[in-house]
Amino acid sequence: MLTKIKEYLYQFIRLHSLRSRIFVIILLIGIFPGILMRYAIVENYEERAVQLRQETVQDQLTTIADHLVTNNYLENYQLTDQQTIANKNVIDTELEMLSGMNDGRILIINSNFNIIRDTYNLSEGKTIISEEVIKCFQGERLFNYDDRNGYIEMTTPIIYTVHPEDAPEESVSVIRGVMLTSVSSDSITETMALLYRQSLIIEMIVIMVVVSLALILSYALTRPFIKVTEAINEVKEGYSDEAISVPEYVETVHIIDAFNQLLRSKRVLDDSRQEFVANVSHELKTPMASMKVLADSLITQENVPVELYREFMEDIVSEIDRENKIITDLLALVKMDKKLQIMDINYVNINELTELILKRLRPIARKRDVEVVFESNREVLAEVDEVKLTLVISNLVENAIKYNKEHGWVKVVLDADHQFFTLKVSDSGIGIPEEALPQIYERFYRVDKSHSREIGGTGLGLAIAKNAVLMHRGTITVTSTEGVGTSFVVKIPINYILSKGNEK
Ligand code: ADP
Repeated sequence: MLTKIKEYLYQFIRLHSLRSRIFVIILLIGIFPGILMRYAIVENYEERAVQLRQETVQDQLTTIADHLVTNNYLENYQLTDQQTIANKNVIDTELEMLSGMNDGRILIINSNFNIIRDTYNLSEGKTIISEEVIKCFQGERLFNYDDRNGYIEMTTPIIYTVHPEDAPEESVSVIRGVMLTSVSSDSITETMALLYRQSLIIEMIVIMVVVSLALILSYALTRPFIKVTEAINEVKEGYSDEAISVPEYVETVHIIDAFNQLLRSKRVLDDSRQEFVANVSHELKTPMASMKVLADSLITQENVPVELYREFMEDIVSEIDRENKIITDLLALVKMDKKLQIMDINYVNINELTELILKRLRPIARKRDVEVVFESNREVLAEVDEVKLTLVISNLVENAIKYNKEHGWVKVVLDADHQFFTLKVSDSGIGIPEEALPQIYERFYRVDKSHSREIGGTGLGLAIAKNAVLMHRGTITVTSTEGVGTSFVVKIPINYILSKGNEK
């Protein structure tokens, strides 16, 4: 159990399971946009807030700068008359208010780079020659946001409008002083921290919801596949024998369909195997039973005449022959089992081979007064397995002789084109009923069981012939009319090796 859990977790972490993939996908889709949005909102807020603060303070500073000009603050700052002091006080109040409101410091610098006013009262009378002050005298305003130390620094020019002596009607702007201001950005930082905290809480809640959702969905979405496994396992372990169904997804339906098909073909195979074993046992038992009856009757009788002994013994011998033939045929069939497809391919002269087989079978034909004719349209040299092709020809010709009539005939015609050779075995025999034609290649199938048995048939001949033809990548067809005769046509490629290449 523990190893199973370990294995499951390992697969989950390595994303080898559909469930873990669904989980991760939902997690990514649900969480990442939230995190990105939070950063975008907080960052954007900072930029906007700093810009807004700078604009507001700059506006206020410009107004104060105007007041400084109108009150000649820069020129009169050292005067002590009542009017000047009163004016100075007004401006100082404005400066104090502004710096107080923004938690900042304002320095007023004249054209000699002297600090003539410091709201902190620390640097008055000192000289300041810094880059930003110089640049401001040249008309360039400075703006600097230091987020680490939490302040915004800016310069504001104090601009005078003068009329040149040579052209008094014209007016020129001259910078005679600079206001260097730094204001605190702590309020922005605090708001940002608050925003950050709140969005983090929301994000935590979202993460929890998304994780639970991902867990539930990954489980629910993969449930049908687990059902498929369970259903297949039930069949595998033998609890259920019925066709299974998991109709939740098209994919599961496809898997189950394929499995059901496999199950059906396995059952067909099982059934046919069982049937085959039953048939084999039955076929082998029949001659045994006959032999036992014959032997029993000899044992139980007393003073049996020698002739009867002889007759019974001959019958027993023919039953042994029959048993032998069934076993030989079965072995031939098993050898041709598809899984053991070993072909011993050689160049064989088909005319000579057919002649040889017919020569062997003619005595049997003569016994039944059947004439066997061979007609060859051309000389055929083909790549075949001689033993297997012999089985095909001999079984077909043997059948044609066996199921023939008195004074009947069997005709074997050999022909070929550039690709195939054909062997046609026709007879003037009893024929095969139309409804029996589809079954004649089945193992142990016989149209008339007792008649076939009488003439020594095993019901395996055509099964062997068909297998052998198929192994040569050939075809076998039959046409028959009851009472008139039967005709088998075998068509086999001349070049076995070439036809194998074509097949691929
Ligand atoms: P068997 O050993 O019984 O001949 P086969 O597999 O060779 O078995 O043939 C199956 C059955 O097909 C035979 O029992 C027979 O009824 C029928 N059959 C085969 N060939 C012929 C034929 N040339 N004429 C009539 N019936 C045939």
